[in-house]
Amino acid sequence: MTQLRLFDTYERKIRDLVPLQGNEVGLYACGPTVYNYVHIGNLRTYIFEDLLRRTIEHAGFELKHVMNITDVGHLTSDADSGEDKMEVGSRRSGMDAWGMAEFYTAAFKNDLEKLNIYPPHIWCKATDHIAEQISMIQELEGKGYTYPTSDGIYFNSRKLSNYGHLARLNIEGLLAGARVEQGERQYVTDFALWKFSKPDENRQMEWDSPWGVGFPGWHIECSAMSAKYLGDFFDIHCGGKDHIPIHHTNEIAQTEASRGTRLANFWMHGYFLELQNEKMSKSSGDFLQLISLADAGFDPLVYRYFCLTAHYRNELSFSWEGLVAAKTALNRLYEAAYEWGEPGEVSEHYRARFVEHLYEDLNVPRALAAAWELIRSDEPNDVKKATLLEFDEIFGLDIASWEPEEVSVPVDVQQLVTAREQARLDKDWSQADALREKILALGFIIEDAGDKTKIKPV
Ligand code: AMP
Ligand code: ZN
Repeated sequence: MTQLRLFDTYERKIRDLVPLQGNEVGLYACGPTVYNYVHIGNLRTYIFEDLLRRTIEHAGFELKHVMNITDVGHLTSDADSGEDKMEVGSRRSGMDAWGMAEFYTAAFKNDLEKLNIYPPHIWCKATDHIAEQISMIQELEGKGYTYPTSDGIYFNSRKLSNYGHLARLNIEGLLAGARVEQGERQYVTDFALWKFSKPDENRQMEWDSPWGVGFPGWHIECSAMSAKYLGDFFDIHCGGKDHIPIHHTNEIAQTEASRGTRLANFWMHGYFLELQNEKMSKSSGDFLQLISLADAGFDPLVYRYFCLTAHYRNELSFSWEGLVAAKTALNRLYEAAYEWGEPGEVSEHYRARFVEHLYEDLNVPRALAAAWELIRSDEPNDVKKATLLEFDEIFGLDIASWEPEEVSVPVDVQQLVTAREQARLDKDWSQADALREKILALGFIIEDAGDKTKIKPV
């Protein structure tokens, strides 16, 4: 058996995945903040996590996948001074914060489904877990890690000797700069655990707490919910790369201080989808969504294929040309597999190559290259088909169910096609060619494949 190995950001190395308990792997993924639709960059991270999940299951482990929905407490500024994105989103959208959270959560789940991303076994919302968050803050308070300011309860990051290890933060350097952004915080790396509602703010989402009416910080929600569903030390925690220096650093700090663990055995991060000319800020309101791609004629699975072409620890640069290339490649793959007919035996040789790449820190682009080698190989068609279908359990491209689109051909064109077939039977090649030209002039191309004739729009 090939051993599955994964890169751990905490230790900065590729290690064997050995479950902490029996054969079970606990996986927590930071979910979206539901104040708007997600953009295609966010979706790249969820595709990465889906590939991770499928690979873990492929390796024979039992997976428990938990994802949260951030529906309160994520501020517009990482310095804990901005407004709650949910309240801002509510003003922008005209929906109340609760209804808006439900609306964008449903839209997110819909995107996941279109991309063949398996839903987690457990969904959890921050607003459903206020009690757990308050009790974790109380634990931190009891251990002397907190202090109040005029706007909330803060975590004292200097009390932890290894604060910032995940991101290899240069704490002394950070403390030397950034005085202005520090506000009332004792150190610039301190962060809010609980924020008080401002008297003039009129917040829609607020709760009573031992410290006053307010709402939890964004980091405490993930520490509290992941521990509730997966325990104080579980196998894998993942999210996008931007979470390394702040969100995940602070999750680790809270759990280390309250429970004495670094929360997860592996910390895994998906690198960004970068856009050259397109915008990709959810708060700017002007960004590419899955539906924008569909409007431009790209099936969601074309976007999934596009993401398979880059390793998750490399940036991926978005371009429309790249998407066109993905569409062409995916169609070739579908058509080839369709023509191969029924599946036979799986090729052991290609299976081994595929697994070797996949299990070495999810090298999906190499695994995809192995699929293309298989397609071009001289393996029998039924072997190619069985092997590719097995690969698709990871790729998630719906290869088995693909069928060529039914082309609707107008009656006059159909009559010309029939006449041309007759001309070919009569071996009247010049007449057949003339009819082909006429058909082309009406916008259809004829392809003769053996004794079959295919018609495609130009
Ligand atoms: P948010 O809703 O901002 O909390 O983001 C949801 C997820 O998307 C997080 O895991 C982020 O790290 C991730 N993310 C944000 N922007 C990008 C991007 N451009 N490319 C890939 N992942 C991203
Ligand atoms: Zn999180």
